[in-house]
Amino acid sequence: MIAKASRPLSSASSDAGRDRRQCAEVYDFLMDLLATAEVTQSQQLKDRSEIPDRFKWDLTHIFSDWSAWQSAYDELETKIAAYAALQGTLARGADQLLAAMKLSDEIGQLTYKVWYFASLKYDEDQRDNQINAKRQQVQILFAKASQASAWFNPELLAISLPTVQQWMRANAELAVYRFALEDLYRQQEHVLDDKGERLLSLSSRFSSSPNDGYSALSTADVRYPVVRLPSGSEVTLTYGQYRAILATHRNQDDRATVYAEFHKLYAANVNTYASLYQSVLQRDWFHSRARDYRTTLDAALHGNNIPPAVVENLIETTKAGTDPLRRYHRLRKRMLGVDTYHVYDSTIPLVDFDRQYAYDDVLEWLPASVAPLGREYQAQMREGLAGAWVDVYENPGKRSGAYSAPVYGVHPYMLLNYNDTLDAVFTLAHEMGHSMHTLLSNAHQPFVYSAYTIFVAEVPSTLSEALFLQYMLERATDDRERVVLLQHAIDGIVSTFYTQALLADYALQAHRLVEGDRPVTADVLGDIYFNLLKAYHGDAIDYDELARVTWARIPHFFSTPYYVYQYATCFASSAQLMKQLTTGSEADRATAIERYLTLLRSGGSDHPMTLLQRAGVDLSKPEPVRAVVDQLDTLVTQLEAAIEHLSQ
Ligand SMILES: [Zn+2]
Repeated sequence: MIAKASRPLSSASSDAGRDRRQCAEVYDFLMDLLATAEVTQSQQLKDRSEIPDRFKWDLTHIFSDWSAWQSAYDELETKIAAYAALQGTLARGADQLLAAMKLSDEIGQLTYKVWYFASLKYDEDQRDNQINAKRQQVQILFAKASQASAWFNPELLAISLPTVQQWMRANAELAVYRFALEDLYRQQEHVLDDKGERLLSLSSRFSSSPNDGYSALSTADVRYPVVRLPSGSEVTLTYGQYRAILATHRNQDDRATVYAEFHKLYAANVNTYASLYQSVLQRDWFHSRARDYRTTLDAALHGNNIPPAVVENLIETTKAGTDPLRRYHRLRKRMLGVDTYHVYDSTIPLVDFDRQYAYDDVLEWLPASVAPLGREYQAQMREGLAGAWVDVYENPGKRSGAYSAPVYGVHPYMLLNYNDTLDAVFTLAHEMGHSMHTLLSNAHQPFVYSAYTIFVAEVPSTLSEALFLQYMLERATDDRERVVLLQHAIDGIVSTFYTQALLADYALQAHRLVEGDRPVTADVLGDIYFNLLKAYHGDAIDYDELARVTWARIPHFFSTPYYVYQYATCFASSAQLMKQLTTGSEADRATAIERYLTLLRSGGSDHPMTLLQRAGVDLSKPEPVRAVVDQLDTLVTQLEAAIEHLSQ
């Protein structure tokens, strides 16, 4: 995403809320890549009222009822109006600035409760129109809040930074806001004069056009083909079906057929896709140049103050660390007993094993798995799991997927659709990682820094999964279960890390085409993708010409350029932290644990790179990426051993 030049302070909290909810959505996307597609659930869903209360979240912790919610809503509206009335006061001095900052915090805190009460209620049953209306009512209020606070940034920035710094030296309460205020001045570097900003805001009306066109072409207007599979059945090839077949059909010809048919959909319109993608690239380059950034990457990273070397290092070090990835695919080829091994053979399970994991068992295992993080951390997790934070089972109308919602002033809530599968177990471990981050950050930070950025967000969630995997592997008694666990972990690394690094590489190369005034055609885009596929997989897979169009079916290239690389950097950070937390001397481990908990407690109180550096992770260096490569190498070796054992 191209960095926003400024953000209205009073809506910062709702932004943060969205950011973290978005993580749930991106997590869905990661699950998506994992392609452990849900095989159709045939059992009848229980009505929500039939599910025992201990498996449902308790939203009365936020508000006792809708009338309490309405009072808070009205209070929020009053405060927003009061904030608008502060316009023109800042230059008078520290007290006025402090008053604005405090009121902004009050609005933010109330916003979390008002938004999430309606939003979580709605997610219980999305068929409820009345609750949907209330939820939309809050969204309208957000828009008002954003208008009511639009004056703040320009008015603040008209005061010189040394003046504001002088105020902060003299006023301890105002000094709390130092990082937030100074960061606004830093972001100011690329803000234009009034005329320039007006021109850019006029252009914003059509900056979403290429992505709108992409959605229309790939979703609204698409006609999914009806395909007869070599094994006999006939399917309508939606994306969901495509994934399900790749993940469940043991017949390779079936997989080859759906792969070809699905990619032909994109090949048929590949020049249109290329033209839309070129518009994305040109738009990003236009905004970067208009704001005087050297490159599109610089522009995308400026918001979080990330040096471009982080992305360049990720790309180079990952490309140099593909050996264990290739070993894994060669192992799969042997296990599957196929003559040729293709992209479409990479998600089918190596063994059949369908153990059910009862939720009550997992409630015991999960806190046990985080023992390396200390007793207090374990106790807090147990409290959360017993405290009606989690909405466990699916019911008719419930939102799909999973997320952790950071309800400031209350506690985190987690939505699951738990179905006793291994995926569901790891999803809980993942969301629990987010929730513990929220809990610790909210407990230790003033409100203004309680929200953390996406750049750090996926560190605790993936670390939580890694700890859980270790716990499960130590206890697995069945060889097949061991294989399944290892494959789950490896596929996670492939999709969360290697695939994201490859996509980041692709996005960077594509943007560099327009930055260098080079042509962007379907052929050129196809070549970039094909060459990357080869650079990663070497002779470990057999290549299909249709793989050239794969880029056209990655929605994130069109919707959120330069965004998902953060999943790879989070994963790398988490791998290095895992290494530090679980190896070395006892004293080293104790220091590493303290540093890690400090990271969680730090919320968004500094730039993400700084926070991670304090935790012992420097993403501008190759070590974190190498930690992932080592992790994968160890897992593939363990998988080889487990398979060896299996065949004895
Ligand atoms: Zn997540």
